[in-house]
Amino acid sequence: MANLQPVRGTRDIHPDERQRHRFIEETARNVAARYGYTEISTPIFEFSEVFKRTLGDTSDIVTKEMYTFEDKGGDEITLRPEGTAGVARMLISGGLAQDLPLKYFYRGPMFRYERPQKGRFRQFHQTGIELLGVPEPLGDVEVIALGASVLNELGLLSKTTLELNTLGNAESRNSYREKLIAYFNDFRSDLSEDSQDRLERNPLRILDSKDKQDQNIVANAPEFSESLDGESKEFFAAVTEGLDVLSIAYRLNSRLVRGLDYYCHTAFEFTTWELGTQGTVLAGGRYDGLVGQMGGTSTAGVGWAAGIERLAMLAEDIPEEVRPIAIIPVVPELQDKSLEIAQDLRSRGFTIEFGYRGNMSRRLKRANKLNAIASVIIGPDELERGAATVRNLDSGDQQEVSLEVLADHLKQFS
Ligand code: ATP
Ligand code: MG
Repeated sequence: MANLQPVRGTRDIHPDERQRHRFIEETARNVAARYGYTEISTPIFEFSEVFKRTLGDTSDIVTKEMYTFEDKGGDEITLRPEGTAGVARMLISGGLAQDLPLKYFYRGPMFRYERPQKGRFRQFHQTGIELLGVPEPLGDVEVIALGASVLNELGLLSKTTLELNTLGNAESRNSYREKLIAYFNDFRSDLSEDSQDRLERNPLRILDSKDKQDQNIVANAPEFSESLDGESKEFFAAVTEGLDVLSIAYRLNSRLVRGLDYYCHTAFEFTTWELGTQGTVLAGGRYDGLVGQMGGTSTAGVGWAAGIERLAMLAEDIPEEVRPIAIIPVVPELQDKSLEIAQDLRSRGFTIEFGYRGNMSRRLKRANKLNAIASVIIGPDELERGAATVRNLDSGDQQEVSLEVLADHLKQFS
């Protein structure tokens, strides 16, 4: 017999949870729309090169986490581990450079081969935004403000801290890199195997290590701020000033580096203390080098992505699915008439459950199980008078209502 378990790290999303996800996605989309960001979607798989070139050879994603396969035509394909690379690819292949600046919102599944645990899956969902073609610090401010607005709208801003750092421009990063290599070299043999490898290729990523021993060593590493040049400092000052103007609180965290190689200047994460080690719910930064690195015209970019599953675990006030109204024929002969009424109400926008079988009491039971808010009971005597009985299933109150005004009467339940 075939293995009928879902693949490790993947999950079925049942109606209740899907409703939570949808509410979060829609909230994010609505807020993004208010900032002028419009929704796009890119394919969930791309040529592997798209990710390899952009995420960098040293990122965890490229070295360990990608779902890569050869398709039947012999092309090397990767299921997208994140959204930004695909958007950058779209900018280039779609020839959109003359339309800059561009403001995009996206949502959808992402795939990473990681060790599954609470808040960490192999197929998970993100919603994100990208602002392309805005090299000014005002872009960073807007993007962070949009993230804060989404969290605020979800009632989660007070459960998170905005952590903020700057990775400066390329010169600053190079000089910091030298200092880090010199520092970590002294502890080389104490570093985790991963970090020893990073030391050669991208020492900045050691700062991001989740290994305990690495973290002890990182604690005394040189600070990035000491390596920032004038331009980098000025840029960051403009970002923090903008956040101050908007009264968006942040905590400077000089150890915050984004996991991906293409980031520069602003890096930020909204983290929560309520989800254990998987505490980052929304993270992003500036990636001016990305599009150029992919082979397009150098284009500024800044954006973020939020983990839907993590937001869903945190969010409390998510509205429930609309409660249906049940249409219940008292006798089988009234099935057709009931069906007509159901259809009419649906066309007017009501959410209607119409049982498939059973007597009245069985159908009422089913209506309760479906959390119906009311039932419309269609009986022969009432129908004779051109009416039906409407029962409020929460209070049990019921009354006869003329079919002519039935729709109006039912409005109280929506
Ligand atoms: P982490 O440090 O938790 O691994 P990351 O730096 O790899 O996160 P990003 O690439 O910045 O994460 O992705 C943005 C957001 O997507 C994360 O903050 C998180 O909320 C969510 N996310 C990332 N990986 C996963 C995963 N495997 N399962 C569920 N959500 C995830
Ligand atoms: Mg990760």
